[in-house]
Amino acid sequence: MSLMGQMMHMPLMISSLLTHAARHNGDVEIVSKRVEGDMHRTNWTEVELRSRKLAQALDRLGLEAGDRVGTLAWNGYRHMEIYYAVSGSQRVCHTINPRLFPQQVAWIANDAQDKVIFVDLNIFPLVEKLAPSLPALQHVVLMCARENMPRECALPHLHCYEDLIAAEDGNYCWPSFDENTAASICYTSGTTGNPKGAVYSHRSTVLHAFAAALPDAMSLKATDTVLPVVPMFHVNAWGLPYTAAMVGCKLVFPGHHLDGASLYNLFEEEKVTMSAGVPTIWLGLLNHVKTNNLKFSTFKSTIIGGAACPPAMIRTFENDYNVEVIHAWGMTELSPLGTLGRLKSKHADWSTEDKQKLLEKQGKSVYGIDMRIVDAEGKVLPWDGKSAGDLEVRGHWVISGYFNIDKSPLHDGWFPTGDVATIDPDGYMQITDRSKDVIKSGGEWISSIDLENALMAHPAVQEAAAIACHHPKWDERPLMVVVKKPGAEVSKEELIAFYKGKIPNWQTPDDVVFVDEIPHTATGKIWKLQLREKFKDHKLPTA
Ligand code: ADP
Repeated sequence: MSLMGQMMHMPLMISSLLTHAARHNGDVEIVSKRVEGDMHRTNWTEVELRSRKLAQALDRLGLEAGDRVGTLAWNGYRHMEIYYAVSGSQRVCHTINPRLFPQQVAWIANDAQDKVIFVDLNIFPLVEKLAPSLPALQHVVLMCARENMPRECALPHLHCYEDLIAAEDGNYCWPSFDENTAASICYTSGTTGNPKGAVYSHRSTVLHAFAAALPDAMSLKATDTVLPVVPMFHVNAWGLPYTAAMVGCKLVFPGHHLDGASLYNLFEEEKVTMSAGVPTIWLGLLNHVKTNNLKFSTFKSTIIGGAACPPAMIRTFENDYNVEVIHAWGMTELSPLGTLGRLKSKHADWSTEDKQKLLEKQGKSVYGIDMRIVDAEGKVLPWDGKSAGDLEVRGHWVISGYFNIDKSPLHDGWFPTGDVATIDPDGYMQITDRSKDVIKSGGEWISSIDLENALMAHPAVQEAAAIACHHPKWDERPLMVVVKKPGAEVSKEELIAFYKGKIPNWQTPDDVVFVDEIPHTATGKIWKLQLREKFKDHKLPTA
């Protein structure tokens, strides 16, 4: 007969992160650049108290356990209060990406059956427009004070956020319930079809926060000041509002002010040490510091993921600005953390160049995530750093199904990511492509990421995207779509010649087109689908 452990059973509740932060690090600041234009300062004690009041307000609005509460908001303290109030009171926080097309926002809000939507001032016109097509919607809460409320509004159930909070006394105890209860929902950005909802639980969120805080993961400490550039509407800002509460560090929220100059000023004024975001967002910041000959005085490290981080960007950050880049891979379905580029002790004697090369990969699994690669028949492939296959994962914060979809996405108990990867004998994973983005040339695969990374190292190139273009003989051949750096001049031939020695000759792109702008998805990734559509009739010079 087995002997049971005799430890307290305390369900892993998201509210416990906030109560811990308030009790043990209550005076640590939360700073937000607001939509209203000013800077706002609060701390963990205040956020916890206001979250309790907001939970009372949700009771008063008649919301029941399990009801979905939508948010259309930028990164800020009010958005974080909503996270905690909604999940902590057993409702489900549904963050919606305001950059999606309005029809998509409506589709998602209807699929989730949001009863309430919290919205930032400058996104309110979108909600006003969509409200008639959202039958489940009962209340709209404008995230502002009374003086910012619109004078005229056709919406019947419009509330003022600060009024809702002011009406409550905070006499509220965070309830304890089954840790597997839904806490939040995030929809995938729909780059691969209709958006699908990933439903996170209290348990998965708290475990993810533990793992993210680890030294070889995001390495968050009480002494850090963290500025999440990654939006709170996409995979809960990679869990940073939870991990920050767990370790009790200072948070700085940029609101919607994400241009290079605004970010730089915020980094300096608030003495930010650590940040996180997708590659495209850093282009603006790096351009700004370069053009104005600036340096960072406190910024030490940043997590870059969500799309392949070009090695040239890692080197610029590290060599020119002394900022360590941790390349990370994850996805909505993984809450999102999967792997991170971190060294092992065996690499201590490696040359700087070899270490850099290794850290350009997407990295090794954090505890809690296991991975494997399989071929088209589902056969498991070796970890030899060469065999490329479909990447599959499983773990404590990986979805087992999608919201409202009966069919299981799992394959043999594993979640197929849709990414193609290699894994080396030390467990370092490298994404070679998303399966639908690989360029299939005469039966051989060309990695669009390799082609993009190589060109991003050219001094005249601001951004590059590789897409498959139809070819009569090879079926598909690579076409590069390129944005030049402001003021830079470079020819198609020079760029093609730039590939020499960097990739196998047969993979060299057949053509380059210059554009003013590369389209990005609502989550900041290169929008390959749209590029393929735009260049579907492009005639390659080799055809
Ligand atoms: P969506 O799938 O809706 O676009 P996600 O943000 O969940 O949104 O995207 C996850 C995908 O992003 C991964 O499956 C992978 O293709 C890509 N991705 C994330 N991080 C990286 C990375 N470091 N390198 C390459 N691709 C990445």
